[in-house]
Order: sequence, then C-alpha cells, then structure tokens
Amino acid sequence: MQRMSRRADFPTIVQSGTEIRQQVRLFQQRGDRVGMVPTMGSLHDGHLSLVDAARAECDVVMTSVFVNPTQFAPHEDYQRYPRDLERDVELLAERGCDYVFAPSVDEMYPSGYETSIDVGSVAKPFEGEQRPTHFAGVATVVLKLLNLVPADAVYFGQKDYQQTLVVERMIADLNVPIDVVVCPTVREADGLAMSSRNAYLSDADRHRATALYASLQQTKQLVTQGERRTAELRRAMRQHLSQTGIEIDYIAMVAAGTVDEVDTVDGPTVALIAAQVGQTRLIDNIQIG
Ligand code: AMP
Repeated sequence: MQRMSRRADFPTIVQSGTEIRQQVRLFQQRGDRVGMVPTMGSLHDGHLSLVDAARAECDVVMTSVFVNPTQFAPHEDYQRYPRDLERDVELLAERGCDYVFAPSVDEMYPSGYETSIDVGSVAKPFEGEQRPTHFAGVATVVLKLLNLVPADAVYFGQKDYQQTLVVERMIADLNVPIDVVVCPTVREADGLAMSSRNAYLSDADRHRATALYASLQQTKQLVTQGERRTAELRRAMRQHLSQTGIEIDYIAMVAAGTVDEVDTVDGPTVALIAAQVGQTRLIDNIQIG
C-alpha cells in the first residue's frame, strides 16, 4: 500500500464537516492511519508536540482549530480567547500537518442543536466543581469532532489531566473506535506550562505564575524526601504560594488515572493545582510518587 509522504506545502484547510469526513474515509480506504489533534487554536509548542506525536505515528495528520463556545461559561473568556488561524496554519505547515479542520460555530452547532454529553463522576470534582458546564461542553465537542474526523488515533495533552480522563471515559463508554494518546506537558524554560491563556498575563503575573510549577516541584521533592501525607504536602504548597498573590482554586493529590484523592502517596499520584494569577485562571499538574 502506498503511504502518503510528508507534505512540504501548507495543510489543506477544510471548513465543512462532510468534506473532512470524506477525506478521512478516503485515506483509511487506502490503508493510511489518520491522527487527529483537537485544539482551540492560538497554537504553541504544547499543541505542536501533539502534532509531532501524531506525525511520528500516523500517515496523515489532521488538526482541528475550533474555539468551542459550549465549554465556556457565560462569564468566561470565550469572546476574548486568542484567535489567529493564519498563524496557526503556518505553524502547522512547519510541523507537517496535512489537514486543518476549522469549522464555523454554525457548522458545529446549527440552530436547533440540543444534545449534550454528561460524562459522570470523573467530570464532577476539581474543574467540574469550578466550571460546572465545562466538561459537558468538552465531551460533546470532542465526540462531534471525532464523528466528523473519524481518525484512528486522537492526541491530548497531560496538561489538562482531568480532561484526558473525561475524554477517555466518554470514548470507552460510547464505544468510539479510536486510540487515545496522552502526551507530556510542554513547559516554558522557567517551568510554566504552555497555555494559550498565558498570553493574558501581565509581565508581573507572568513572573508570579512560575510559582505554580515551582510549588509542584517542591511537592515532588518532599515526597522524594519521605513526606507521604498529602495533607502536609497540600499545606506546603499553600505556604509556598502564600506570598505570591496567587489565589488558589484547588490543590489536590489523586491516584494517577483517577480523580480519587489520596491521604498518603503510596503509588503513582498526581498533584493538581488550579489558581487565579491576576485575571487569568491557570491549571497545572505533575506526577509525584
Ligand atoms: P486547547 O487548545 O487548550 O484546547 O488544547 C488542545 C490540546 O493541547 C489539549 O489536548 C491540551 O491538553 C493540549 N495542550 C495544551 N497545552 C499543552 C502543553 N503545555 N503541553 C502539552 N499539551 C498541551
């Protein structure tokens, strides 16, 4: 079977769901493995690392760029979320992405649209508590994107830990025939997890924000030094952040692969943090233990 070679030219931009689905089917009929990277655009090296992973494992790489209104609450930043499709396409061209699926809001949510996916318990704590409608929006748009781009593998970032669990739950529960690949968090040189929302940070807040990763690193170090009690680890994180002006939404230690909080670090554990840095809400996590 002839494989599609890496394309040096720009990706093909497709706005129609019917058209992109036909393309996927054509590639699959000739035996190609299709990889899909869902994004909201404003791409950075975190997103592009997912494209690289897909490029390494698949014959055809498709990236969706869609700022999904249903995962934002009315008071959140949907309107001002950064958008720059032209620049995104240039970056995707450099990484050898073959297709960009960039649907309009009307294409995704035509008038009369009503269905929404409730993923269940994994979507309830942490981000789900702070943003009660967020994960229904995420799960629904991911399933819609995977129905329009019925790829063989889909790529997500560890940066959004709970999101990966929500998507994995939805894919398993609804029998979506696709492999899920979770890729490591890409960070700035000073450790701040890359995020499209970092663009909102003032210089002072950008400097402050480095404390998030530093506090996670400190937690990991404390575990290495023998501290296993998560109450103590959470206290140390709060203390670390207390002088920074960062407002903590939550700090949690969960058994890896779950949202179940643990009292002691006895096995693979993930430390999660969400915080308000100035006007900007940031999340991060690392594996400890
Ligand atoms: P977003 O555009 O924020 O919806 O993110 C699209 C995908 O990129 C999601 O799977 C994110 O988890 C992933 N992603 C965002 N930031 C990073 C990062 N710093 N490192 C790795 N993946 C990331």
